[in-house]
Amino acid sequence: MSNRIKLIKPYIAFAEVSAEIEAIFESGQLTKGQHVERFKSSLCEYTGAKHAFLMTSATTALTMCLKAIDLQPGDKVAVSDFSFPASANVIEDLGGIPVFIDVNRDTFNMCVEDLQRKMTSDIKAVMFIDALGNPSGIEKIKAVCEAHNIPLIEDAACAIGSQVDGVKIGNVADMTCYSFHPRKLLTTGEGGAVLTNSEQYAQWFEVKSNHGASGMKGKGLDFVDYGYNYRMSEIQALMGWKQLIKLDEIIVDRNRIAQAFEDGLAPYGLKKQQVASNAIHNVQSLVFTVPDFMERDELVDYLNTQDIESTIGTYCLSGCTFYADKYQNVQPNAHWLEHNTITLPCYDGVDVERIVAAIADYRETCCATLA
Ligand SMILES: *Cc1c(COP(=O)(O)O)cnc(C)c1O
Repeated sequence: MSNRIKLIKPYIAFAEVSAEIEAIFESGQLTKGQHVERFKSSLCEYTGAKHAFLMTSATTALTMCLKAIDLQPGDKVAVSDFSFPASANVIEDLGGIPVFIDVNRDTFNMCVEDLQRKMTSDIKAVMFIDALGNPSGIEKIKAVCEAHNIPLIEDAACAIGSQVDGVKIGNVADMTCYSFHPRKLLTTGEGGAVLTNSEQYAQWFEVKSNHGASGMKGKGLDFVDYGYNYRMSEIQALMGWKQLIKLDEIIVDRNRIAQAFEDGLAPYGLKKQQVASNAIHNVQSLVFTVPDFMERDELVDYLNTQDIESTIGTYCLSGCTFYADKYQNVQPNAHWLEHNTITLPCYDGVDVERIVAAIADYRETCCATLA
């Protein structure tokens, strides 16, 4: 048997869903059924948000949020610069202009001072990203949005289950988007959701994500608007619900593992992504910054030779080839983080000691002069 430590492990097994999947097939109801309804209402119950809409991905969810605020070509959207490129792509796709806001090197999240510095009257919305699931500082960004009377859209692709001030993410921003891609904590293969407390946005999503239909006209649907179909299927919703009901336990467990890594790695200069004291991080990804005397890429390669998978933290959006060429405005902290962060395996049963020992070995070889 292979001794390789994988980077991620899904929290769902086929045995947990097989009977209900069979029932879905037998019923013939493959979409718009009880599983979709249950997952939706459970997301509301879990987060405290009033409305949830299940989508095909975080990317489609974010696109719909920008349509919901009626983003027009040439409109600007302020966006955290340390994320997966989808966050900026959805702005670009609608002809909007991303205004890259640099991030803090400790939390990896949007820097409120940089947002205030760059705030102009043609910025139509702010997109806050919970970097790797960390919600730290979102309340400060929300206050700026309120002061300027613009909506806060949260790319919480990674942040399901995270909290600030005792409130679950999903119930903080005007609209919050989750991803259920396999790289995330809760997965439906592909999938996403939008949560909101706004009746106005909810009404818009209800109609627009259902082909523009609202109620009936005679024996058929009444298409009161044009619309889209980004709906999730019954099997996916079943998978999602099965994980949601055990999510809080998973998060406690991941925090315990993250703490063990933090303690184990401190002597070697690796510093964990910081979480504010009023926040709970779901640890969707466990990310450390490496000290100056280490080369992150070399460390990833070394761990690979030891059969330990790891990867970079995430991307500096303004530094992606497309955005760097187009806007020539690379943000220094996000750029630094892209090159100096490492994601380590974090899940039940992972061999923390073996990984810490491997990093200690690497430190010996890379930094013989410092030892
Ligand atoms: C994964 C991710 C996305 C994209 O999610 P999809 O569901 O794959 O579209 C967007 N933003 C962030 C921050 C992500 O981590």
